[in-house]
Amino acid sequence: MSTNFPLSNSQLSNLVKDFPTPFYLYDEKAIRENMRRFTKAFSIFPVFCEHFAVKACPNPYILKILAEEGCGADCSSLPELILSDLAGIKREKVIFTSNETPASEYKYAYEHGNIINLDDITHIEYLKNALGELPETICFRYNPGSEKQGCNSIIGKPEEAKYGLTREQMIEAYRICKAEGVKHFGLHTMVASNELNPAFFVDTAKLVFELCVEVQEKTGVRIEFVDLGGGLGIPYRPDQKAVDYDQVARGIREEYDRVVVPAGLDPLEIHWECGRPITGPYGWLIATAIHKKHIYREYIGLDSCMADLMRPGMYGAYHEVSVSGKEDAPKTEVYDVVGSLCENCDKFAVQRPLPKIEIGDLVIIHDAGAHGRAMGFNYNGKLRCGEVLMRENGSFKEIRRRETIEDLFATIDLDGVKQFN
Ligand SMILES: *Cc1c(COP(=O)(O)O)cnc(C)c1O
Repeated sequence: MSTNFPLSNSQLSNLVKDFPTPFYLYDEKAIRENMRRFTKAFSIFPVFCEHFAVKACPNPYILKILAEEGCGADCSSLPELILSDLAGIKREKVIFTSNETPASEYKYAYEHGNIINLDDITHIEYLKNALGELPETICFRYNPGSEKQGCNSIIGKPEEAKYGLTREQMIEAYRICKAEGVKHFGLHTMVASNELNPAFFVDTAKLVFELCVEVQEKTGVRIEFVDLGGGLGIPYRPDQKAVDYDQVARGIREEYDRVVVPAGLDPLEIHWECGRPITGPYGWLIATAIHKKHIYREYIGLDSCMADLMRPGMYGAYHEVSVSGKEDAPKTEVYDVVGSLCENCDKFAVQRPLPKIEIGDLVIIHDAGAHGRAMGFNYNGKLRCGEVLMRENGSFKEIRRRETIEDLFATIDLDGVKQFN
């Protein structure tokens, strides 16, 4: 877990006077420092580009900070493309890695000069029909099927995944696009989610590099960039270790020197689409304990719920929980820390040893900066919480307000309801 929560109990207590719980807090300084470490590790390649996966934290303030650190964006929908645009991310630094994409969204990406990453061989024809021509640059998403073993449970086995093209289709796709006059080519794959083993990414890079060589041999197409997707994990649990960026970069560089350089494919650009490791450890959900309940188990009820952070309820995911001001207190109690949704899976922590919690205590859910607020929903009429950014100078800025009941009802014609009979 991240032991990096930046505020003391008195600082946090002051903050909640201005921003009542629940809310997300992000640490700008920590996000920037981490991004610099990531970029530095991959500076051993001729060209490196991280396209931040917008879905992980779709807030344009955060995107703007990341853009200043050199990041592009990885988008999978029109609103994400628009957000990246709003954040000032350069056209060619936006990659559109989408699937089951409507023509209108391809059109927007094309008109804005974004890189289009196709998820299927049939999408070449579809794209051509949508645009009237093919773009100068095209990337294809590779699904290695049973060639890639050891994939973890969130993303599942590649041969059961809906994404990407088979190996044979990849070759054919580049051949078709070359004949159609496409000038620049990329190759993408993503076969992991929240993976902590550096060797997994090195192995994936090797597979992708070898495919680049095969594509060149069979079609004469020179692939100019590979995109290794996302999937770099973070240590949610206290006993897990963060991925060493340098170790991953060096391992991939070895394969690069072994496979890419001798084939004459150097310089080959290395791209990533990481979301989780970029913002995950630097965002927290802050809530207040509002109820204590003693039945067959001990429960702590928060003023937040799974609508603000879905991962524990949806995947049984572990998030570290701490109590502000009680970081060093002995863990004498065992609690289920729960939210207010009418679903029994709405538990931030199950049977978790924690210090004794009193009503009014501020409870911090860690590692919530990616796939946190972003996955929120409105089931049960829950209003999603807002987001606060801690600036580098220690000041705070609300970067998204909490939802109101008016927001929730905005899609319904309420006058129409009165007249409806
Ligand atoms: C979700 C996703 C990512 C980001 O994954 P993280 O685990 O957050 O790094 C990148 N690319 C694609 C295509 C994705 O679906």
